[in-house]
Amino acid sequence: MKYPCGQCGASLVFNPGTANLKCEYCGFENIIPQSEEDIKELDFEGHIAKLESREESTEDITVKCGVCGAEATFDSSISSDECPYCASPLSTEKKSKKQIKPKSLLPFKIEMSEADDLHLKWIDSLWFAPNNLKKRARLNGIHGMYMPFWTFDSFTVTFYTGERGEDYWTTETYTTTDSKGNSVTRTRQVRKTRWHRCSGTVYNNFDDILIPASTSLPYKLLKELEPWDLGNLTEHNTDYLTGFRTESYQLGVVDGFENAKDDMQDPIRDKIRWDIGGDHQRIHSTNTDYQNLTFKHILLPVWISPYRYNEKLYRTMINARTGEVQGERPWSWVKITLAVLAALILIIGVIVLIFMGSSNENYGELLELTTTVL
Ligand SMILES: [Zn+2]
Ligand SMILES: [Zn+2]
Repeated sequence: MKYPCGQCGASLVFNPGTANLKCEYCGFENIIPQSEEDIKELDFEGHIAKLESREESTEDITVKCGVCGAEATFDSSISSDECPYCASPLSTEKKSKKQIKPKSLLPFKIEMSEADDLHLKWIDSLWFAPNNLKKRARLNGIHGMYMPFWTFDSFTVTFYTGERGEDYWTTETYTTTDSKGNSVTRTRQVRKTRWHRCSGTVYNNFDDILIPASTSLPYKLLKELEPWDLGNLTEHNTDYLTGFRTESYQLGVVDGFENAKDDMQDPIRDKIRWDIGGDHQRIHSTNTDYQNLTFKHILLPVWISPYRYNEKLYRTMINARTGEVQGERPWSWVKITLAVLAALILIIGVIVLIFMGSSNENYGELLELTTTVL
């Protein structure tokens, strides 16, 4: 198992149960907690906040949308004065905002015309969408945005308590009636589970847990733009930013860490289940120590196309590295109703055909069945 040195980051080899791991490169003594008591007092939010205060900060001129609240950097090279998130006119009121400086970014790879095509193709592929949707979606154009994200790295040590379930079979006697109507006694095999209490420690290594730091777009859709080729992150350089807007983060790093903890839950619980073994597992408690916790503020390129349909706002987002499209969409209730009716007519047709094939005595039954379906 690889353990990152808390001082120099070197990858050390680690055996579970080790309490003190001395780094062979810098000599730092990494302390690995051995019991739940070791970690109860630790304050991870405080640790993150302390790291945050050490980060280099930047002061940008931003414009805030009065309608949706999105806050993006002002770039005099962009002529559009429309909010990239909600298509309402942007106010001209600028203000200065202090933020952590982004460390790195992924430059735009998908061009604007390509993004436009991907957007329209996506709309074409939608089932039960209103007919004039494409025309409407085209009205507001498409905007290139650098979206703020946090990435978190951590080596976690988790103590758990739970139960291991082991299956066994028993023979059960039961009474039933045979084909002649006689009461008979028979036996059958029944599966049962025996539960044993257990506890243990599991280790996970998390690298680049990606958390959207924007609240202007739906969190779920931003998450679904993954995967990102984070291996190609380039050092933050203003040359890349020209012609695009950059959103300021609204979700701070401490809150971002809360979301990262949620994302770490599933892999940790999977590891616990594997550790418990047996046929079934129950997890009663977990307590996690986040070792070598570090974060980065990065920018990722997204094409956004906002449009209104029946007064409601819809947004399509495109991962400007992979071309992955995610979006909100309107439904055509006329089309859905027609489809449901068509399906009903088909079902009734099939029933009629079946009964036509059988004898005439069944017409009453057919009538009853058709009424039920309707
Ligand atoms: Zn070291
Ligand atoms: Zn807006």
